[in-house]
Amino acid sequence: MFQRIREFLNSLLLKELFQGLALTGKYLFKPKITVQYPEEKTPMSPRFRGLHALRRYPNGEERCIACKLCEAVCPAMAISIESDQREDGSRRTTRYDIDLTKCIFCGFCEEACPVDAIVETHIHEYHGEKRGDLYFTKDMLLAVGDRYENEIAANKSADAKYK
Ligand code: SF4
Ligand code: SF4
Repeated sequence: MFQRIREFLNSLLLKELFQGLALTGKYLFKPKITVQYPEEKTPMSPRFRGLHALRRYPNGEERCIACKLCEAVCPAMAISIESDQREDGSRRTTRYDIDLTKCIFCGFCEEACPVDAIVETHIHEYHGEKRGDLYFTKDMLLAVGDRYENEIAANKSADAKYK
């Protein structure tokens, strides 16, 4: 009986409404913690696994030696490589494709690569409007690598002591 009277009085005096307003008022003047993305961004780890890139050496030569370890280790079978021997005897890829609609961004390809050729960058703001847009060819991957090489090298260097 006492319980029901108390509930009735709480309801009559709008107790829960005022409790809610008090909570709102408490946070009204506190510093805001909402990040206004995309104008504001949170810090990103050098290990972030975003869009893939193929890297070159400073002299412009492709790093990839077509060993196919990344293709073999990829659990999603997203990587397709074909290779051939050059006139100088070195082996290079003639095709290096990644189907990003299959990729699960596990980072195994990057871990497996003996020459740091395939890497995952910080880039996560990309999209495709049809399936083919997310099929990245060797030229596209090299272009990403060329564009972001400084940043990729800095992230690799920052993370090197933990390897
Ligand atoms: S990140 Fe993982 S799933 Fe994606 S291509 Fe590399 S190994 Fe395959
Ligand atoms: S990217 Fe690395 S692991 Fe993959 S084929 Fe080239 S050298 Fe080998």
